[in-house]
Amino acid sequence: MRPLIRHLYVHIPFCAKVCPYCAFYVHGGSAGLQKRFVAALRKELSVAREKFDLQLETIYFGGGTPSMLNADLFLMIAESLQDFKPGEFTLEANPATVTEAKTAAWKWAGVNRVSLGAQSFDPDYLKLLGRQHTPEDIPETISLLRGAGFANINIDLMFSLPMMKDTTWDRTLAAALACHPQHLSAYALSYEEDTPFFERLQSGEWKTDEEREIRMFNSTLDVLREAGLDAYEISNFAKHGFESVHNLAYWRGEDYLGVGPSACSTIGTQRWKNIEDTEAYICRVDRDECLRTEIEIVTPEIRQRERIMFGLRTREGVDLSLVTEHGNTVCRLIEEGLAQSLGKRLVLTPRGRLVADSIAEQFC
Ligand code: SF4
Repeated sequence: MRPLIRHLYVHIPFCAKVCPYCAFYVHGGSAGLQKRFVAALRKELSVAREKFDLQLETIYFGGGTPSMLNADLFLMIAESLQDFKPGEFTLEANPATVTEAKTAAWKWAGVNRVSLGAQSFDPDYLKLLGRQHTPEDIPETISLLRGAGFANINIDLMFSLPMMKDTTWDRTLAAALACHPQHLSAYALSYEEDTPFFERLQSGEWKTDEEREIRMFNSTLDVLREAGLDAYEISNFAKHGFESVHNLAYWRGEDYLGVGPSACSTIGTQRWKNIEDTEAYICRVDRDECLRTEIEIVTPEIRQRERIMFGLRTREGVDLSLVTEHGNTVCRLIEEGLAQSLGKRLVLTPRGRLVADSIAEQFC
């Protein structure tokens, strides 16, 4: 029997310029390379149809910058997916690359959620982050998206940037809210190895500031709650009914298939990463060779640990039956006001969410 897959991730590895904090597998892409990549992706998708029972509830185009693909190339990929009618079809977009022709193509193909990588509304921080857009481009892009009929828009932001003042973050949050997004993701900057930002941290030019991070996180919770965006996961906020179904599937430990170079998949007891090299990916697809690297066996114990780890980060928490063998830890967390039991679920309190990762470790 073919494994049933309800969630598909499509990795588009192209970015106009690589941001100095980014550790994803991304690179520039000439028109020729993009064409060859799209052909390979279509072939990978057609092979996936034979191997898996695809009953897609969500499709997520991430990257990279999916909005870099011109309308024709995007439609060629979308054609391979046209018989699916997912409830949620997300595409990540960069404000500098959205055009009317592209939004029309996305709409036509069934995209119904756009995630906009805004990151900041401050011109100096946008420059520091190496972004290609200006603060003004963000509301303009959102108007363009709304004009094309998109009613579910996420804005991605980053806080606790080097030397960032609280007032700068407050202004960015206010500017984002003025765009009336249905969903907002706010991530504290993380210094990823092998990035220019990491080197600047290592050299002592920049320092992390945990207190500032906590302050900004707390003010984010307050401001967004006030605006009707509820924290359904530590870094993710949504109006009622606009929570990301695709991301919830990851956090609930559901299976997913990833296609494209460097895309990860978890299906049954197997987890793997597609080869992280676009040329090699295209070549292997052409030759019908295996794309999988870093193959891991996901034992029931690993699955359970991940469910606890990710579940604790969410508003729905974890089923108490998953943590029965950790009775003492659960009682202590409740006594310390870091968690509460709501019905049959263990849910972290706002104070507990601040230290969610260290709490999760106590269940490992
Ligand atoms: S646009 Fe996004 S994916 Fe591309 S380099 Fe910047 S952060 Fe990374």
